[in-house]
Amino acid sequence: MASTELQRLWKLNQIDSGLVDIRHRAANLDVGKRLTAELEELKKRDAEIGGNARKLSAELTDLELAQKGIDDKLKKIDKEMYGGSVVNAREVENLQKEIAALKRQRDHNDEKILGLWDTVPPAKAAASKIETQIAEKEKQIVERKKAAIVEKQKLEAEFARLTQLRPDAARGVNPGLMNKYDSIRQRMGGVGMAEVTRKNSCAGCGTVVAERAVQSLKDEKVITCESCHRILYYTEGVV
Ligand SMILES: [Zn+2]
Repeated sequence: MASTELQRLWKLNQIDSGLVDIRHRAANLDVGKRLTAELEELKKRDAEIGGNARKLSAELTDLELAQKGIDDKLKKIDKEMYGGSVVNAREVENLQKEIAALKRQRDHNDEKILGLWDTVPPAKAAASKIETQIAEKEKQIVERKKAAIVEKQKLEAEFARLTQLRPDAARGVNPGLMNKYDSIRQRMGGVGMAEVTRKNSCAGCGTVVAERAVQSLKDEKVITCESCHRILYYTEGVV
């Protein structure tokens, strides 16, 4: 067994380790960074895929309007030709040429329109799929941020609880040991003590504790790990 002195220091170490852990968790809190990066990626794809769908739709609308314009012109010429106002043979010939040209243009547009009827729906579907994914991602980000706030509050409460416990735990430790512990803590990321595992290694850094050191620990001496220099806590294989 460890001495009463070391048992007290161990309690303090538990509190300090808890505080270190909370700080670490607070610093690494997931506030949706990954999700936001994914959202940016989706928005980039949306600009491309959505842009393509809009371009094709606009093309189709333009062609449909153009067809209507051609039909109107043809009707007008038809009226002129059969309304009795055109009698001159040359005029009739010109109008017939115009009709032929308009019909060629209309056929050409029809072909393009048929092609677009094939490509517009899947392009629109792809754009709408991305839009849905964006909406879903935005929802996830909002939820992640809400959850992060709750987690942060929990961590703060736990931090306050441990901070409150610390003075009492520190009072029981003798000043010499406390100084040693504090200076190790400062060098070792806030954790100044480590348990000796069942396999007689330091739980802080994994280094094997020498047989001689284990014997000294059994004799209730204050021993530090030869590698990480943390004060070792030995409970005779209980850990
Ligand atoms: Zn160690």
